[in-house]
Amino acid sequence: MSVEKNTMRILFVNADKADQFALSVILKKAHLSIEVLGCDCIEKAQEILEKDANLFDVVLVDQAIEGQSGLALCKDLLARRLSIPMVFLAEAGSESAAVEALKVGVDDYIVKGLGEKYTALLPYTIEALVKKRRASRLASDLDASLQKERNALGDLQAADMIDKRRLTDRLEIAEKVIETTFEGVMVTDQNGVITYVNPAFSEITGYPYKELIGRKPNILKSFLHDQDFYKKMWQSLIGTGQWQGEIWNRRKSGEIYPARLNISAIGDRKQRLRQYVSVYYDITDIKQSEMEINYKAHHDALTGLPNRLLFYDRLNHTISRAKRNNNIFALLFIDLDDFKNINNSLGHPVGDLLLKEVALRLKACARRGDTVSRLGGDEFAIILDRIARAPEAADFSRRVVEALSQPFCYREERLYSSVSLGISLYPEDGETGECLLKNADTAMYHAKDMGKNNYHFFTESLNERLRNRIDLENALRKAILGTEMEAYYQPIYSLESSHVVGMEALVRWRQAGDKVILPADFIPLAEEKGFIVDIDKLMIQKACAFIKKIKTSARATLPQPQNISVNLSAVDFGSINLYKHLTETVEAFGLQPDNIGVEITESALIGDIESAIVNLKKLRDKGFSVSIDDFGMGYSSLNYLARLPINILKIDRSFITDLPSDKSNNAIAKAIVFMAHEMNIKVVAEGVETEAQLDFLRSIGCDQIQGFIYSLPLPENQIEELLINSHTMNTLHPSKTIS
Ligand code: C2E
Ligand code: MG
Ligand code: MG
Repeated sequence: MSVEKNTMRILFVNADKADQFALSVILKKAHLSIEVLGCDCIEKAQEILEKDANLFDVVLVDQAIEGQSGLALCKDLLARRLSIPMVFLAEAGSESAAVEALKVGVDDYIVKGLGEKYTALLPYTIEALVKKRRASRLASDLDASLQKERNALGDLQAADMIDKRRLTDRLEIAEKVIETTFEGVMVTDQNGVITYVNPAFSEITGYPYKELIGRKPNILKSFLHDQDFYKKMWQSLIGTGQWQGEIWNRRKSGEIYPARLNISAIGDRKQRLRQYVSVYYDITDIKQSEMEINYKAHHDALTGLPNRLLFYDRLNHTISRAKRNNNIFALLFIDLDDFKNINNSLGHPVGDLLLKEVALRLKACARRGDTVSRLGGDEFAIILDRIARAPEAADFSRRVVEALSQPFCYREERLYSSVSLGISLYPEDGETGECLLKNADTAMYHAKDMGKNNYHFFTESLNERLRNRIDLENALRKAILGTEMEAYYQPIYSLESSHVVGMEALVRWRQAGDKVILPADFIPLAEEKGFIVDIDKLMIQKACAFIKKIKTSARATLPQPQNISVNLSAVDFGSINLYKHLTETVEAFGLQPDNIGVEITESALIGDIESAIVNLKKLRDKGFSVSIDDFGMGYSSLNYLARLPINILKIDRSFITDLPSDKSNNAIAKAIVFMAHEMNIKVVAEGVETEAQLDFLRSIGCDQIQGFIYSLPLPENQIEELLINSHTMNTLHPSKTIS
């Protein structure tokens, strides 16, 4: 787009370095060969320009410069007659200041903050001013040299000759400017017949000179403008002798392009109209970059889908249309299940590939007219326009869930993923975009709660559930600060010695009225909200206090467990310095690290296995025993288990329940025990409830058991009784304690 080969120089009077940088970027993007000198105070600008204003082609003056007025600077420069083009940069909403600046005499103004319009206008305005100035400089340089000549000749006749020559020279210059400018110039006579075009005009339109002369400008018509457009153009030309604006024209090749057009009616001495001069500026580049900016602002860079902004825009449109036509439509909120796991375990590039593939599959499911959008992260939304009945939305959602549960191929591997989907219907579930989206989101959460890989319609009762959830959250917050969180303990027995060798601390929420709430009902929320960190800290505290009490109890005449294990959530790894907290608490109670064990589920490790290994190693090296909880439920592969610095492996209850009748679980349990022993790891079987299970576990060499067969988790006072009275398996009758 650069017109001049020479570099343009701009003095930008503005206090903000970021603005100065942004200006350079905008001008560079417009491919202008330009040099910007930033100047952050009025006095400096005055000094620079006073020294040599000719160094610059344009001065850009910000409305406010560090508390000083840009307008005052403009006035001052104009008063000094520095004759340098000035552009006033008005703040958004300060058009009145811009008008004031024009009145004072600045050459042009631009209102900041118009987004892409601003970035397009700025280079255009500057370039136009620079060209104008250079042409006028050329003319005045010539004037000056002619004047010199006239003075030298000193006689009137010579002066007359010079005047004539001056006129010819001026005409020559004007002709040269017109012939070489990049702007297309077309002259028509009073009947609209083309009498002259410059080379740039031919280049822009694709028509050679000869093909244009004698024709009318309608040869260029794109037919994109209606009659009214041309009517207004003519009204302005007749009324004011001028028209300027943007116009879509057609090149000879048939390509339609945008141009900025300025038409002036030229009269003769007697004010009779003689011709029209039109100046065209091809703004294809500007429009193109405007379109690109516009596209980028409304689409997601990764998937190319409409982004949240465009989605809301379309949603509001759909609502208006549905209101007008009295039809219904559905809004689908889609969230990938466990996307975090994929991202964390396989890396973000694979996560990105998955998101792209999801976008493709969603688009393939959608019909023409439906909007598929990525709202951000792993959240997508679809506007199902004009469905006749709710079951259509259900059919569609079923197809989406099905399409996304098909494996994704990554290199040679197959990755499995799924989505949960919530549906809200217009108008019954909401009449505004926000409400429909919120309700679809609530329905999506419900689909997740129901086991994921599914869809769910919004219902009012879900809102009720949401309210309950908020109530639960508030109550939980209070409970953690108060005294409602209690520790229960469940003994762990050695199958070899039959003694209690340890205990697991399990949290219980005792609400007013002695209602005890189990972890399953509040731990997921506590993890989501991050409260789990405080709960786990509290449990570490309580476990330390209890083991200390057991150790120092006067009644402890029999062998007592010296170890309590506490459960740690995945969230803890990210938010507390576990090592520091554990060691400090153990020391504060005067205990040894081997009095406390930590239990971590496999899924807690999967997020960032490398740092989990570092954390666990630190704990184990200090002397804390480290257990992998619920083993078999997660994703552990054997080689990755070998890398984990652990002491104990707890087989998940789901593998124990069907022992010994279930052959495959028998084999799994056997294999786990064998493998763990090979790695010097002890095995605890969780959830043992029957003698048959016990016998089988003993037969395969399992080390320890924990389960209702001997004891439920019990509050502190009851577990103390149990430890004193029935500290070995032999003194307990299995069925006695199961309630
Ligand atoms: P877990 O760590 O695997 O704890 C064992 C769970 O199995 C306990 O459930 C226990 O009551 C139950 N259980 C033990 N033996 C039997 C049995 O023979 N039959 C049956 N049906 N169940 C048995 P609970 O106390 O409801 O805890 C559930 C889970 O909540 C725990 O599983 C643990 O993951 C989590 N949790 C409990 N307390 C805490 C805590 O303080 N912090 C954290 N982060 N998580 C905790
Ligand atoms: Mg546990
Ligand atoms: Mg467990």
